[in-house]
Order: sequence, then C-alpha cells, then structure tokens
Amino acid sequence: MTVFDLFRLDGKAALVTGATRGIGLGIVEALAEAGAHVILSSKVPKPEVLARFREAGHKVDYIQGDVQDPAVPARLVEAAVDIGGGRLDILVNNAGVAKHGETHDFAEGDYRRLMDINLDSVFRACQAALGPMRRQKSGVILNIGSISGLVSNIPQPQAAYNASKAAVHMLTRSLASDYADEGIRANAIAPGYIATDMTSGGLADPVWGPVWRDMTPMKLAGSPMDIGAAALYLCSPASAYVTGEVLVVDGGYTVR
Ligand code: NDP
Repeated sequence: MTVFDLFRLDGKAALVTGATRGIGLGIVEALAEAGAHVILSSKVPKPEVLARFREAGHKVDYIQGDVQDPAVPARLVEAAVDIGGGRLDILVNNAGVAKHGETHDFAEGDYRRLMDINLDSVFRACQAALGPMRRQKSGVILNIGSISGLVSNIPQPQAAYNASKAAVHMLTRSLASDYADEGIRANAIAPGYIATDMTSGGLADPVWGPVWRDMTPMKLAGSPMDIGAAALYLCSPASAYVTGEVLVVDGGYTVR
C-alpha cells in the first residue's frame, strides 16, 4: 500500500452532472482514470464523449436530464443507483450556469433559472443521494462552488451568481456537519477562472480578460484538469479525514 493507492476509486460508482464538457469533463476524466465507474449526466447528450471513454477502456454510463426541472435531480440519482448495482459512492454536483447583469435590472426569470440550476438542483441531488449513502453508511458528496462564493470578483456584475455559489458552500458545510457520523463526507471546490465555454467570452473580452488575468497572481486561467485533480483528491480515500472543506483552486486569485 502506497499513498498513490489512496487515490484509487476501483469499484466505486460516481454520478457527475454537467459531465460532458468543461470542468465536469475534467472531473470525469480524473475519476475514470482512477478506476471509478462514472455515470455522466448532462442536458445535451454527447454520445461521442461516452464512446471516447469506452474506447479508452473506462467504465462509463450516461443519463440525460435538465436539472432545472425539480423532479430531475432525484431521478438522476435513482437511475445512477440502478446502474451502479444499488450503490452510489460519489455524487459530484457540477452543472451550473453563469449570468451577468446589474442587480437593479436583473430579470426575475434569469434569477430563478440561475438559482434553480446552481443551488436548488444541488440541494435536491444531495437530498436524493443521502438515501443510498445513509443505507451504505458511506458516501462522498462534492459540490462545485466558486471563488465568487467567497469574493465579489470584478469587473462583471453577478450578484445572483455569487449568492448561489456562497449558498452551495454553506450547504456543503452543513451537510458535512450533519452526516459525518453516518460515514458521509461533503466537500466543495471553489474554482477561480477556468478556461471553458462559460468563460471563453470573458477571457477573450478586451476589458474583462486582462482584469481577470491581472487579478490572478499566476496570470492565467486554469484548466478543467486542475479541478479534476482536486476532485479526485476530495472524492477518494486520500481525503478520508477531510469534510466541510471548500478547496480553493484559483491560481491565487483570492489571496489578494
Ligand atoms: P460550462 O458552461 O462549460 O458547462 C456547464 C455544464 O453545466 C455543462 O455540462 C452543462 O450541460 C451543464 N448544465 C447547465 N445547465 C444545465 C441544466 N439545466 N441541466 C443539466 N446540466 C446543465 O461550465 P464550466 O464547466 O465552466 O462550469 C462547471 C461548474 O463550475 C459550474 O457550476 C460553474 O458555475 C463552476 N465554475 C466555473 C468556473 C469557470 O471559470 N469556468 C469558475 C468557478 C466555478 P450541457 O453540456 O448539456 O449544456
């Protein structure tokens, strides 16, 4: 037994939302390479992503679902438990949306959609996953928060997004406190700027891009695998004594 064995996930079943692109895809790659059976979920099916993992010899499955629908998170968990042979060892709530805009004229519909997807769906998926995890007396929940849940990053106005991510952090810490004695760990990752579809416009923007990079001590955006590697740590026995943590992965953004 070496320390590297603590990062293995052989025999573990993991459900990852927002799994076929961006940060979610980086997380799937990390968990699958560590030996997990990963059940990918997204709103838009991408069979080519599944095929690529299968060709590489990884055990993967897929469930489609729009997590804005209140019934969907529980359905995803239920289907994942079926696929996983009655178990769910790891739940990664990664699906999320960003919407910028001044609070004084932020549309009610935009606010609702943002909260439905970024916060309410996370609560519902955690709630559903607690069923199998409590029966198993084990399980790991990982929620993807943001540095925007810790600081009000600029120059883009995004109060609603920031509030949704701060709530995800506190939900995570509360679950860690409430379920530690049942063998369930709950952690979050707070990414800084990661190069994905969500940030491509901002990183290319002549005003926002330079501000984002200049305010990051490392002066560059991270990659989805920077988050995948952190996720592997938090989902594996390597972090067996870690719960309630919000792990910041941000190139130093929040140190200033
Ligand atoms: P992307 O925009 O690249 O991808 C978003 C993912 O969320 C997609 O997989 C998408 O699925 C899924 N998703 C969005 N809406 C829904 C929905 N209604 N139902 C199901 N799935 C949905 O984002 P990122 O990869 O950048 O972000 C992933 C997470 O990381 C988000 O929670 C985001 O807030 C967070 N984050 C990102 C940062 C960054 O710099 N990129 C920084 C901090 C946090 P589909 O492919 O089917 O559309």
